[in-house]
Amino acid sequence: MNLQEIIKRCGKHAAPYRVDGGKKFQLKDHDPGDTGHLHESDKERAKKDMERSVEAMAALQERLYAQDKWAVLLIFQAMDAAGKDGVIKHVMSGINPQGCQVYSFKSPSNEELDHDYLWRCTKSLPERGRIGIFNRSYYEEVLVVRVHPEILKKQKLPTELITKHVWKERYEDIRNFEQHLARNGVAICKFFLNVSRDEQKRRFLDRLENPDKQWKFSSADARERQCWTDYMAAYEETIQATATKSAPWYVLPADHKWFTRYIAAAAIVETLGALHLKFPEVDDAKKAELAQVDKLLRKE
Ligand code: ATP
Ligand code: MG
Repeated sequence: MNLQEIIKRCGKHAAPYRVDGGKKFQLKDHDPGDTGHLHESDKERAKKDMERSVEAMAALQERLYAQDKWAVLLIFQAMDAAGKDGVIKHVMSGINPQGCQVYSFKSPSNEELDHDYLWRCTKSLPERGRIGIFNRSYYEEVLVVRVHPEILKKQKLPTELITKHVWKERYEDIRNFEQHLARNGVAICKFFLNVSRDEQKRRFLDRLENPDKQWKFSSADARERQCWTDYMAAYEETIQATATKSAPWYVLPADHKWFTRYIAAAAIVETLGALHLKFPEVDDAKKAELAQVDKLLRKE
């Protein structure tokens, strides 16, 4: 299969999970246990397919880098234990680390709180020619902060600016910010790893039982789990308000890790493929220069 065929195939696989106009989006229409047209017995085939997507991604990344015009921003959002880290690790495994930057956003520091909430993310945006990965992002500002309004109170904002419209305003600002990026050559692709509450419980219990995974568990994760319904409402509204053609969300079923990774890889290939990346063409003057060097080298 050539690169164009792989891009087309990936587009087909990722399409059912792409949300690029949010008005009708409802989380209840997205099953976390979905494995599309595949079954557990197709797992190995899906892994092979994913490897092919990762190879395509690497080939596209080379062109992205050489062309030095577009930047690609991949945003990952999810509840704990949904598998963000695993997707990032597997999906990016074939990519040249020099062309890729990963940033993990935690609770903002004092310095970060002295600025608007986009500041720290803006500083970490990928350069042209690169792929930037945000493990969490400014979306936390309408997710965790919305679920826990006391965080908003500690954000040092002038009180008169905190009105009942604050979330609508944040959605609007995020949409405008992303449109600005898109208009300046940053291709944005956002992922929500949609894990079910039951599967999260299973994974937490697995972490608690397994000594090699205990370090991953924090009691804060279990506390956040108590706010599940609020989080799901916040995710739904966020996706409704911020899914656009130039910055789509992919709602990835996340109860089966192999399927999550398979679709994530396909979505990234689709995103890169849509940029029609090509190696820069060498003009006649450059060709003549190269021919000259070739001659000199052969003479040596
Ligand atoms: P992992 O647990 O897999 O290492 P993680 O992304 O969950 O990865 P943690 O250090 O456990 O990393 O959690 C980061 C925490 O920071 C999350 O609870 C998240 O909600 C919080 N956070 C991120 N951005 C903000 C923000 N802008 N305001 C408040 N809290 C935030
Ligand atoms: Mg965590």
